Amino acid sequence: MNNLIKEFMDKLELRNAHEPEFLQAVFEVAESIIPFSEENQKYKIHKILERIAEPERVIIFRVPWLNDKGEVEVNRGFRVQMNSAIGPYKGGLRFHPSVNLSVLKFLAFEQVFKNSLTGLPMGGGKGGADFDPKGKSDHEIMKFCQSFMTELYKYVGADMDVPAGDIGVGAREIGYLFGQYKRIRGEFTGVLTGKGPEWGGSLIRPEATGYGVVYFVEEMLKLRGDSLKGKNVIISGSGNVAQYTVEKCIEVGAKVLTISDSDGYIYDRAGIDKEKLAFIMDLKNNRRGRIKEYADKFNCEFFAGQKPWSVKCDIAFPNATQNELDEADAVLLTENGCFCVAEGANMPTTPAAIHVFEKAKILYAPGKAANAGGVAVSGLEMSQNSLRYSWGREKIDIKLKLIIEQIHLACVKYGKEPDGYINYGKGANIAGFVKVADAMIAQGIV
Ligand code: GLU
Repeated sequence: MNNLIKEFMDKLELRNAHEPEFLQAVFEVAESIIPFSEENQKYKIHKILERIAEPERVIIFRVPWLNDKGEVEVNRGFRVQMNSAIGPYKGGLRFHPSVNLSVLKFLAFEQVFKNSLTGLPMGGGKGGADFDPKGKSDHEIMKFCQSFMTELYKYVGADMDVPAGDIGVGAREIGYLFGQYKRIRGEFTGVLTGKGPEWGGSLIRPEATGYGVVYFVEEMLKLRGDSLKGKNVIISGSGNVAQYTVEKCIEVGAKVLTISDSDGYIYDRAGIDKEKLAFIMDLKNNRRGRIKEYADKFNCEFFAGQKPWSVKCDIAFPNATQNELDEADAVLLTENGCFCVAEGANMPTTPAAIHVFEKAKILYAPGKAANAGGVAVSGLEMSQNSLRYSWGREKIDIKLKLIIEQIHLACVKYGKEPDGYINYGKGANIAGFVKVADAMIAQGIV
């Protein structure tokens, strides 16, 4: 490791001990930004990276609620307001038992760069709770969301901080959170994105992250005169991002072989088609079931407790969660001929695995670029709310595609190496950084 990076990380570690995910996310960015700041001294003099790596504000709060048995339960709620240099804080809420300060700080940090890459005026934030929605009744989910918002409402607002969904927070939860905010504030505003289309939500928002990842891969392949048509694809996860990645892959003629959940993965050699995808959507979104049911129904293999990375493919989409793809998986993927990896999830690939991909010169699209379509359409939802208007599907899809094309171009601009290899990780970091850094310099030491 370069001495300057080591010095920076040592200092960061002193201040953020016991936050491994956060340190991992900052390290990945520091590897590109510290050398870049050596060449562009203004960023060094203004200590921009050090400032970006310190949240502007962190709110931690108690979330008490009554379960269906009438018992009191207590969870911990968070909102990390990371950076507001280019717009109000923007980023999702995650409800999952693994949620802690380290996880949310890493997500908020990534969000700053991702939001900047979209070209829209959004700062970065993230929040959530260590609440486990698995097995909870609809009534319990509502009670929890209401209690969560009863505290969070003080810190959010359409021009202040605009949360959305993430793992464990979908349309249903956004509805309950919005209802409570409106009741407390007595105002109908665009305080959250991912709202229903009948009450201020944007069309294409549910599809946006999954579609966007596929659009990004299409851009990467186009540059090599290739396309997704006829490619074998493996996907992890089976939630919102995975579902719409499958849908778009089918539409562009790729063959999707796997999806997964925390119990294991299914391997459908015949490929997931539209009808099978409709089954997955009903299973996961309406019945909140497990993916093993797919294997039973369509008579394909189910690998309990495993991830899909040993399946031979051309392209892999890690679309489940952080650190789900490690060095051994990366070696296996590259040895098996996979030549492109695009992250639908945030930081699903470990640093050692990223180095394997870079060394093998395979196309690797980091989440902050590849999955930015979700927050991009959230940004378009904010625009529509401000206009008190709603745009049609086609218009939003065109805008989404354009945003992804521009992110891809920005990554190429800053990530192209002398031998022609495009280091998308480096490109995304620098392109996302420059805009935030220049805004911070313009606004002074605040
Ligand atoms: N949670 C999503 C992400 O990781 C979307 C955030 C948003 O729409 O604000 O980017």
